[in-house]
Amino acid sequence: MGWGHGNPRAILHIDGDGFFAACEVALNPKLRGKPVVTGAERGIASAMTYEAKARGVKRGMPLHEIRRVCPEAIILPANYETYAIFSTRMNSIVRRYTEAVEEYGIDECFAEITGLRRPLKMTYEEIGRTIKRELQNELGITFSLGLAPNKVLAKLGSKWQKPDGFTYIRAQGLSLGNPKVSPCAPLNPSQNDDCLLSGYIRRQSSVHSVHSDNSPEDCLLETSKRQSSNETTLGYYLAHTPCEKVWGIGPQTAALLAERGVMTALDFAHKDETWVATHLTKPHIEIWRELRGEFVLPLETGKKQHYDSIQKTKTFTPPSNDQNFLLSELSKNCENACAKARHYKLFAKKISFFLKTQQFRYRGIEITLPSYTSLPNELMRLIRAEFPKVYRTNEIYRASGVTLYGLTDTPPAQQDLFGASITQAKASKVFERVDALAERYGNHTVTLGSSLSALRPNLDVGRPGSVPRPVRMRFGAGGRPTSKVVAFQTKNPASYHLVIPLMGNVY
Ligand SMILES: [Mg+2]
Repeated sequence: MGWGHGNPRAILHIDGDGFFAACEVALNPKLRGKPVVTGAERGIASAMTYEAKARGVKRGMPLHEIRRVCPEAIILPANYETYAIFSTRMNSIVRRYTEAVEEYGIDECFAEITGLRRPLKMTYEEIGRTIKRELQNELGITFSLGLAPNKVLAKLGSKWQKPDGFTYIRAQGLSLGNPKVSPCAPLNPSQNDDCLLSGYIRRQSSVHSVHSDNSPEDCLLETSKRQSSNETTLGYYLAHTPCEKVWGIGPQTAALLAERGVMTALDFAHKDETWVATHLTKPHIEIWRELRGEFVLPLETGKKQHYDSIQKTKTFTPPSNDQNFLLSELSKNCENACAKARHYKLFAKKISFFLKTQQFRYRGIEITLPSYTSLPNELMRLIRAEFPKVYRTNEIYRASGVTLYGLTDTPPAQQDLFGASITQAKASKVFERVDALAERYGNHTVTLGSSLSALRPNLDVGRPGSVPRPVRMRFGAGGRPTSKVVAFQTKNPASYHLVIPLMGNVY
């Protein structure tokens, strides 16, 4: 079988360390060395610096819990538009070396560097370390890299030592034909002590390197020290990786494997082809082959406009305590976020919204939606219901924001032919027209009635006494009227405010 022999491919997986929080630190050097947590807008930690991690802050931890375990934590709302800029820069730095880049997530990518040793006059490891150094110098945040003959192993490598790690997993050291190896013992007993020792050294060094203010030269020294401790075999890495930590193996598959005594990636790699074909389907068979060192999964290298989340926020002056006004601001945030989602043909499964106080404290909450949507009127119904949990009568607010998460490009399934789906289908048609009008006349040409008070200050500029006057309009796809809407026309003939009777409570 052809793993690891001949000319192995060289694939990098590049992953930002605590990316959102690291971007915040890069933008505001005063935050360096401090426990910074992002996620104020959803009421839970979405990312954190290693200083916060060291004090016990974990992903998904609620804000009150964060304040309990780490009272000095600086909790910020995630600013996705900024992170997207860092992400774009990350990908363009990697593209200086190779065009074969798969933009896998906002803070991670795969890059193929096979065949570049001669033109670049560097080993694969040197190329990887050079890319890492450039990323860190230019972006001001640390990255962890995995270098391996395929994507599954590269991904394993980048996770191996975080933060600021570099792990080269070669396709050697997996002696096959020995399926009964014990889970955590490397195959070659003579290397056992070395491997464990190097693992120990590695973890020590990664602890020491947490956010040290190293100059690039120091970094080089640091990484070259680690390089020597990285001379381990494929079998070693697999033996120390539980199946559920392998990229692409979900909890269900891990449970299925565990039932059959397959606990580690090494146990899995040692299974023979017949066993794998009997128990698993194609995607997991491909992972099995990659764990054995083969190159199976190609890089998807087209430039991707991917959104993990869409966020719209706004600071308003003067600050306000007026519930209706705040709901109206949220409604506008919601409309803007949904318009962007519809532009990219995306649907959200979760949303969050936040209010920011004059003391710069954030109060936010995350809501899981009953079904995927990109319609603001549906989201506003939920936001309205949760609003009292976030709003405090004794506080004055200066900004609001709405974020959509769990985005998919698969349209929501019609769950029933009555009630909700029909309303949703009709509303989708209305918003198709809204988007067409926005395209033609500009944003907010037609808006939800609930956004009206947030928009009024803008509309009133230069138009004193501009009182919206109601007009009746008919909207429908392809000229066929399908929904009746009541709109309010201002003096600007292109500006209509929309009330959609079939949705009832949008105003
Ligand atoms: Mg990351």
